[in-house]
Amino acid sequence: GSHLGRPKAVDDKYSLRHIRQHVAKLLGVDVQFASDCVGQEAELKASALQPGEVLLLENLRFHAEEEGKPRGLPDDATDEQKAAAKKELKTRQRKFAETLASYADVYVNDAFGTAHRAHASTALMADCFDADHKMLGLLMEKEVKAIDNVLKNAEHPFTAIIGGSKVSSKLAVIKNLLDKVDNLIIGGGMGYTFIKAQGGKIGNSLHEDDLMPEALNVIKAANEKGVNLSLSVATVAGDKFSNDANRQTVDIYNIPDGWEGMDASEQSVENWKKIIMSSKPILWNGPVGVFEFENFSRGTGDIAKAVAEATQKNGAYSLVGGGDSVAAVNKFGLADKVSYVSTGGGAMLEAIEGKVLPGIKAIRGY
Ligand code: AMP
Repeated sequence: GSHLGRPKAVDDKYSLRHIRQHVAKLLGVDVQFASDCVGQEAELKASALQPGEVLLLENLRFHAEEEGKPRGLPDDATDEQKAAAKKELKTRQRKFAETLASYADVYVNDAFGTAHRAHASTALMADCFDADHKMLGLLMEKEVKAIDNVLKNAEHPFTAIIGGSKVSSKLAVIKNLLDKVDNLIIGGGMGYTFIKAQGGKIGNSLHEDDLMPEALNVIKAANEKGVNLSLSVATVAGDKFSNDANRQTVDIYNIPDGWEGMDASEQSVENWKKIIMSSKPILWNGPVGVFEFENFSRGTGDIAKAVAEATQKNGAYSLVGGGDSVAAVNKFGLADKVSYVSTGGGAMLEAIEGKVLPGIKAIRGY
């Protein structure tokens, strides 16, 4: 069974029958199909399965029970009505999980991308199997090892490179990492909130005023914990948010009016490269510039190269994960030069925040 897309009801566009032939090709065996993941057809086909045979169940998300979020409530539903619908669905969700579990002798979860959700198939089902009859899939196991390598058993010096657009979406990540890393490199759009909070002039650069106090807290906490926090020193600014903007490299604390910081300068990347080259584990999440624009992608490309070089030359363990940095290593063709590229954006981010992922806990107990 699996998810495909985010359907809110049965929708042929998201039917798993579209992938049936492809799965059969990959596995080298015929793949049977049940047009509903629960019910008589699924039950009969599952119970008739012989060793070596494969049955693909229809998209689990066609049922609201999978996610446990009530569907079709009227817009003007009261809080009580919403709560009642949720409660009623929870009961049905448990049944749904038990029904799915009843088709199988062993439960394998290989969906790291949804490991941060406690859905019927990703977590609840696991309760129906004892420890010897549930396990992580091969991909999930790699993800879990990668997370443990950097967050649980990290060698030192440990460096995290955190970029991307917003402080708000990475604050929990930063806070958790402050207790673990030796070096914290902060780049990308989120860096300007740190610069402005310290009195810098950032022109039109991306920033979140309401997060300036938090940015100052991070700087203070890094000092207290002896973490080397490294921000950009200069930036490649553009006079509009576009690939064909005019460019100039400016001091990051003095960005002229009408200009916005869009890429880390050569000097910034040079500083960061020194840190990266002296690191054991390296965790990279988020680009250090608007790498989708060719003219502002150099900084992110150079970070990708530095992480790859530290891995190849120094044997550093490098984990790239969480959305856009994955797109960046792929764009620069370096995915096979780093130690591990995570497949789960949201799940990896929550793991780096220090949260327990329900999909993993359901199987290994923590
Ligand atoms: P996130 O999803 O938070 O990891 O952010 C990724 C996005 O941040 C990418 O689409 C980048 O283009 C964007 N980004 C990185 N640096 C900047 C910047 N200096 N100004 C605006 N956007 C940026």
